[in-house]
Amino acid sequence: MPAFLDGRPKGLLIDGRMQDALSGARFPTFSPSTGEEVAQLALAGPEDVDRAVAAARAALDGPWSKFTPAERQAVLLRLADLVDRNFDELSLLDTLEMGRPITASRGLRAMVVRSIRHFAGAATAIHGETLGNSAPVELLSYTLREPIGVVGAIIPWNGPIFSAAWKIAPALATGCTIVLKPAEDGSLSPLLFGQLCLEAGVPPGVVNVVTGLGATGAALSSHPGVDKITFTGSCETGQKIIEASAGSVKRVTMELGGKSPNILFADADLDLAIPASAMGVFNNSGQVCAAGTRLFVERPVYDEVVERMAAFGRTLRVGPSLDPETQIGPLVSQKQFDRVSSYIALGQEEGARLVSGGQRLTDGDLAKGCYVEPTVFADVRDEMRIAREEIFGPVASILPFDGFDEVIERANATRFGLAGGVWTRDITRAMSAVKRIKAGSIWVNHYFAMDPAVPFGGYKMSGYGREGGSEHIASYLNIKSVWIRTN
Ligand code: NAP
Ligand code: MG
Repeated sequence: MPAFLDGRPKGLLIDGRMQDALSGARFPTFSPSTGEEVAQLALAGPEDVDRAVAAARAALDGPWSKFTPAERQAVLLRLADLVDRNFDELSLLDTLEMGRPITASRGLRAMVVRSIRHFAGAATAIHGETLGNSAPVELLSYTLREPIGVVGAIIPWNGPIFSAAWKIAPALATGCTIVLKPAEDGSLSPLLFGQLCLEAGVPPGVVNVVTGLGATGAALSSHPGVDKITFTGSCETGQKIIEASAGSVKRVTMELGGKSPNILFADADLDLAIPASAMGVFNNSGQVCAAGTRLFVERPVYDEVVERMAAFGRTLRVGPSLDPETQIGPLVSQKQFDRVSSYIALGQEEGARLVSGGQRLTDGDLAKGCYVEPTVFADVRDEMRIAREEIFGPVASILPFDGFDEVIERANATRFGLAGGVWTRDITRAMSAVKRIKAGSIWVNHYFAMDPAVPFGGYKMSGYGREGGSEHIASYLNIKSVWIRTN
């Protein structure tokens, strides 16, 4: 058991102290592997969100504003070391709470630590510009970049540590303060992450973590004291947050869902393409926003790819999250299990061919958890709901295609535009597909990669704004233009 789980209820992190909700309300968080309660968490009401925002504002105007960029950088570098040192515990918390297999959870260490160090580097690289102008009097014009203020961050459960790091570290780099609302199914590692920020020397009130349910996020997204909302989650919730943010015209970043196309041409290296495309859907039990859930396969290799995708799915070890051999763990919750199961039933009703998987696993201890086999549907048609809607489970839809223009058009016939994949040995065809697919990230002869130096985000209803890259830092900054008379 991680030391963080000492059997006592976990509080809210407000103004540097773990404290109960003012109402005293709590809610439980469960392990999807065993169905057992993992911890009791404080349920933040609007009055707690008020307190957290007030603490963030006071820290923004107070001690935190005195930190030089180099001092913020030093804090972030210490935080990176602390996260590195405590990563076994952080990853175990995620595994217990949201079910990511322990080996996969631990495997995120390098990415998370590297990300925090990346944002540490950004702290001392923030700069404005000197700009020429044609004003009728002599004026020097230049820009200053200033912290946007109090950031409200709302994250999903599918990668709690990763999401917490990608929201909190850029806030620290830019001199912002933050109130983070984790998902109800992924709150523990963000709470511990918040404590590590204090240990790293972040002043009280700079990083606040308010656990709770959807209403807690709603209170944050409509709060007049919040200057910016950065949200990662579903499109439906994103739309509610955009509406709620209108009252005070908040800056908003939206990282939403997807139904990403992964296009496999007949000349592709299938030995490379099949395992990568399969893991592009099945990884994290399919609970990945950029999952390549629509696999378009060119007709000459269609039957072979369907067979080999199914065979690959059958080799994956589905099991309890704590077993180091497990490759695919449970779905995050009963609710998510019901959702995925209903899509598996729907796919069959719609006439897709279930080639492999699709069953709940109930052998022995698995009966207590939310396990579903990696599932492959073939002969899927574009209009089927399993080809149009985000399932967020280990379900691949395979669709045959015959021509280049045809497949590009079908790949783009979606309201989403988060990501896409292309598999071919023909460089011209690859470049042409890259140009024509309407999505924020495209991988060629690979599926899924992210890096803090590279922008990630959506086209269309997959959102706006970018995380990663210079755009990420810019989204936490205001620009002030200064004019000075020089004669
Ligand atoms: P979700 O239901 O939208 O929840 C996301 C967060 O919003 C949670 O913290 C949730 O709290 C909170 N929330 C719920 N209702 C709210 C409201 N009315 N106002 C403000 N906040 C509210 O999404 P999810 O089911 O956790 O995550 C899955 C979705 O996230 C998928 O659609 C996936 O594609 C997307 N996602 C996108 C990315 C990306 O970078 N583009 C990355 C990961 C996931 P509760 O947990 O308490 O309900
Ligand atoms: Mg849970």
